Amino acid sequence: MEIRVRYAPSPTGYLHIGGARTAIFNYLFAKHNNGKFIVRIEDTDIARNVADGIASQLNNLRWLGLEIDETIDTKGSKYGPYQQTERLDIYRHYANKLIDENHAYHCFCTPKILEAMKKTQEKAKVPAFKYDGRCAKLSPSEVNKKLQSKVAFAIRLKSPKHRTFIINDIVRGEVSFNSKDIGDFVIIKTNGIATYNFAVVIDDYLMKISHVFRGAEHLSNTPRQLIVYDYFKWSAPKFGHLTLITNQEGKKLSKRDGSLMQFIEQYRNEGYLPEALFNFISLLGWNPHEEREIFSKAELIKIFNSDYFSKSPGMFDIKKLLWVNNHYIKELPEAKYLDLVTPFVKKAYDWNSRPETWWKELLLIYQKQLMYGAEITQLIKFFLEDKTTLTKDSQEFLKNNSTSSQLVIKAFSQKINQLDDWNEEKIHDVINQVKSETKISGKLLFMTIRIACSRQTSGPELPKTIKLLGKKNILTNIKDLKF
Ligand code: GLU
Repeated sequence: MEIRVRYAPSPTGYLHIGGARTAIFNYLFAKHNNGKFIVRIEDTDIARNVADGIASQLNNLRWLGLEIDETIDTKGSKYGPYQQTERLDIYRHYANKLIDENHAYHCFCTPKILEAMKKTQEKAKVPAFKYDGRCAKLSPSEVNKKLQSKVAFAIRLKSPKHRTFIINDIVRGEVSFNSKDIGDFVIIKTNGIATYNFAVVIDDYLMKISHVFRGAEHLSNTPRQLIVYDYFKWSAPKFGHLTLITNQEGKKLSKRDGSLMQFIEQYRNEGYLPEALFNFISLLGWNPHEEREIFSKAELIKIFNSDYFSKSPGMFDIKKLLWVNNHYIKELPEAKYLDLVTPFVKKAYDWNSRPETWWKELLLIYQKQLMYGAEITQLIKFFLEDKTTLTKDSQEFLKNNSTSSQLVIKAFSQKINQLDDWNEEKIHDVINQVKSETKISGKLLFMTIRIACSRQTSGPELPKTIKLLGKKNILTNIKDLKF
């Protein structure tokens, strides 16, 4: 049997971390088993679709490094189309088949009737609304009459009264459902469009999907889908319902939670690397059974094993993502690193104010420590702003060491003022001369000079910092010092 899996986003929003994880697990499973990875667009909930939802899903999946074997822009596949709104006739065909076989029926109930039915059930304290089945009792001639006079209708599936369905879930083990809580549910809405629970079965069957890995929120849909499989006498694919992704407080990630970026596009815009996100996301709810945390895509494909899904939720730890991202940034070749950071720098500062070589030297200093692309603008800030104020710890340092600081600064500014050969070696010599003249060394010497020049207590190597800051800048900074 060929392994065929699908990621089936609804374009009601952009690619979310949860969606990306589902896609990545399906992709890894397919590639590990020499199978096919399919992306099907489930856009039947027309009112909720967003304009660039499809583009966001596909572009960001591809940006993450997922090669898609079959999707809406695949030419010549025998399983297409891959967008559900282009398959509406197929769903109607199968729905009619179920009507012919007495497993489904036309339902002419108006929203008003359904509302009243809900109210009655609420009054009677029925725990969950269930359609009362009244249209199933209409005679064939009554149905025909309504159809002929063009009364709007939906198509409902008859739900078996007491049937137990069991699935052997790849992630959760045996899960059983009883059909008694499921009322007759709509498979084709009055607008002629299939509902998710119906379309998904028809498509998974016709597209020969062998395994379905999807989010936990779909587990409750599975029994409805199993009823459809059963009526058509089709065998269902194997299911794996992934565990939740939680935030650090252990709460389910919610799209409304503003404290954490939730969409792949946001990470991309902030200068995270696709390899890092792929690596990090693939470990959310899947355990490689190895001690390390860094895995390339090729390694993950090689070791991916569906027995290793974890049963507990995957925790989204932003600190870990930053660490993983930093790992990949460190490994970038120089040119690629500069490509990553330069757009952020150009947006924040006047690129033409300095020579290209100056920028390159400055930006490369931060490659080892940078956690994400956009962070660069903060790190280099003090090299570029005219009026950097003394940081609080700088102020304190100068205050606590005022006698030695004044000596150091006086000697340093005299010597640096006279220095014409502006390079690291000569700057280093100046610092040494200050040391022998003042007899002050170690932290008192270096920290004082650093603060006087840059107004910060930390930064890159001192002679390099001084060189890049430039003589004019440094002299102004020293002149304006008050302590
Ligand atoms: N379209 C569904 C969603 O976006 C996925 C359904 C499925 O994987 O079966 O959540």
